[in-house]
Parts: sequence; C-alpha cells; structure tokens
Amino acid sequence: MRQPLVAGNWKMNGSRASVAELLAGLKSGINQVTAAEVAVCAPAIYLPAVQADLDGTSIKWGGQDVSAHASGAYTGEIAGSMLADFGCHFVIIGHSERRAYHAESDQAVAEKFTAARAAGLVPILCVGETLEEREGGITEEVVARQLDAVIAHCGIDVVGEGVIAYEPVWAIGTGKTATPEQAQEVHAFIRGRLAASSQAVADGMRILYGGSMNPKNAAELIAQADIDGGLIGGASLKADDFLAVCSAANR
Ligand code: PEP
Repeated sequence: MRQPLVAGNWKMNGSRASVAELLAGLKSGINQVTAAEVAVCAPAIYLPAVQADLDGTSIKWGGQDVSAHASGAYTGEIAGSMLADFGCHFVIIGHSERRAYHAESDQAVAEKFTAARAAGLVPILCVGETLEEREGGITEEVVARQLDAVIAHCGIDVVGEGVIAYEPVWAIGTGKTATPEQAQEVHAFIRGRLAASSQAVADGMRILYGGSMNPKNAAELIAQADIDGGLIGGASLKADDFLAVCSAANR
C-alpha cells in the first residue's frame, strides 16, 4: 500500500510575511488531512523559517533544486548536505522549469538525483512532455528517456528510494489539467517502465501527478490506480486550497 504524498512547490514566490502566514494556515488545518503525507518545497532562503515553524508537526519540507556537487567552488549553488542541515526531507529534481530555463540535461538531472540521495534526501524526480511532444505522439518516448537516464546513472534500487512526479509541461501553471485518463495512462506507463527493471520498485514507487491540480480536480486524479498524490504549484500558495488538495486523498 503506497501512502499518498502531496507536495507543494512554491517556486519563486513568497516573502517572510507571506511564508509565515501560509505556514500558520497549514499548521492550523493539517488535522483535516488524514491519509496523505504532506510536504512543502520552499525557496531555499526561506528554509530556516520553514524549519522553525514546521519542526514537530507532521508536515515535511524540502528544496526545489540541489547541486550535483557535494561542496566547493560552485557559486550560487546549494548542496544536498545544506538542505539536510535545515531539516529538508525532500528535494525536487529536474522540474521542467529547470530543464527549460537552466538547460538541465537528463544526465545533469541524474547526477542531482545521486547527490540528493548521498545527502539522505528523498528526490522528487519530475518527468513530462511538452505540448509539441504530446502532439507529436512521443510522450512515452520522452518520459522513458528522462526516466531511463536516472535508472542508468543511479541504478533501479536508488531510484526506488525517491518519488516520481509526472508533470506534463503543457499543464503546468496553464490551468489545463491532464484528464484523469490521460494522466493514468502515462502513470501506468512509468510504473511499467520501472517494472522492467524491478517489480518491487515499481510496486512501491509513489508516482505523483503535477499540472494545475487544484481542489476541484484533485480527488478524481488521485483516485486513479497509479496516481499516488500530487506535486502542486499554484494551489500550494493558499493554505485552504493546498489543504483541500491534501484532503482529496482522505478515505
Ligand atoms: C509545478 O510547478 O510543479 C506545478 C505542478 O505547477 P501548477 O500546479 O501551478 O501547474
């Protein structure tokens, strides 16, 4: 039985005041979430504040990116050990915005996955196709390539220590959600791809859906056989909306 996971991706949003308000709202409503594991992935500079506020609660936290390197002359980067130092449990790896705006290759993403595990973090590996790729009929090819690069680099057992987020790029921040059937089809494909290397990893792996998930569509998406929760962008910035998405996994 896979416990659902709902993780918020705040992206580059917030201020000290809005982070404090959001965390207070989450803490006061988290009791309504009975089934899902809940986490927030905050901008790195707010992680000390997140740790101070969430320590001792059931809500976990994480970073949005990590360096592939352990330490050294990498100006501006943040090492996995630094995220761990501030109590991070998760880290998002290979988000489509990093692949698109920072030219992160499949190989770079795979190296970051390894670095995250070396620091004891649970990587949330994002995969997903663009609209052009979907319309070109190569969704599975793209997702398989992104996944296989990490399996080849880290090995299937290390991949199994993480979480996968299927995030069709055309659905991120656009208000266009994949239908539950469209999402389920790709999630089942991903699980099958994992099973080709290890049935145990495939059975245990949590595969989240991400892309305009909100309180209205979350329950139907999470009800799909291979959808084990969500990675939530826009709807994670309001406590009530995020808690409603988290509660969609309640049984
Ligand atoms: C994301 O950025 O991971 C995401 C899913 O964003 P949104 O929910 O805003 O589409």
